[in-house]
Amino acid sequence: MACTDSSARREIVHYSRKVHASGLVCATDGNLSLRLDDSRFMITPSGVRKEDISEEMLLVMNMEGDVLEGEGRPSTEYKLHREVYRRRPDITAVIHAHPPKAVAFTIAGRRLDTGLLPECVVTLGNVPVAPYALPGTEALPRSMTELICLSDVVLLARHGSVTAGTSLGEAFKKLEKLEQCAQIQLYAEALGGPKPFSSREIADLEGLRGHYGVNSRTMSFGEA
Ligand SMILES: [Zn+2]
Repeated sequence: MACTDSSARREIVHYSRKVHASGLVCATDGNLSLRLDDSRFMITPSGVRKEDISEEMLLVMNMEGDVLEGEGRPSTEYKLHREVYRRRPDITAVIHAHPPKAVAFTIAGRRLDTGLLPECVVTLGNVPVAPYALPGTEALPRSMTELICLSDVVLLARHGSVTAGTSLGEAFKKLEKLEQCAQIQLYAEALGGPKPFSSREIADLEGLRGHYGVNSRTMSFGEA
């Protein structure tokens, strides 16, 4: 569901501060956006710490990449957000963050296994990793186009994450869960290595999505 401009401003400022306070971005990294209607979205500006974002700093853009409202420059990754809205008409909110532990897995060339905890199987599914692409260029949205069609959560190699939802609250919850999975996997590695669920246990958990009303798009653990 699309939002009004004033509620979108409040929501983006609220979640920008939460993303910063949760350590999921640092310095001026990351960006948040909300779809306003079929042809416009609101996004955070470039070069501002997420804790310092205020409502009047936000920019409204169209799908052609023109700034319709607001001073200053939009986030350099606006193309990433636009790509999600173009490919996923069901999506209203997008957060691009740099969750440090989740990204560390991509740098080490290790798989972040989102299938180790029940709630991660249910809410995140099997999170795909987009290959490295030069930040701020057209290559970045291109690197994740196919994956965002399959999953609301995509890791970007050596860079960050994209989480999408029907609200910023939903997108933020997926981002928090992703980083929590990475942290617990790191603890388990330190304790001798995680013991995976059986495929039966995974299938049982995947079967719970309907029961919990989870309607996010996820990849199954049987997929690549
Ligand atoms: Zn980034």
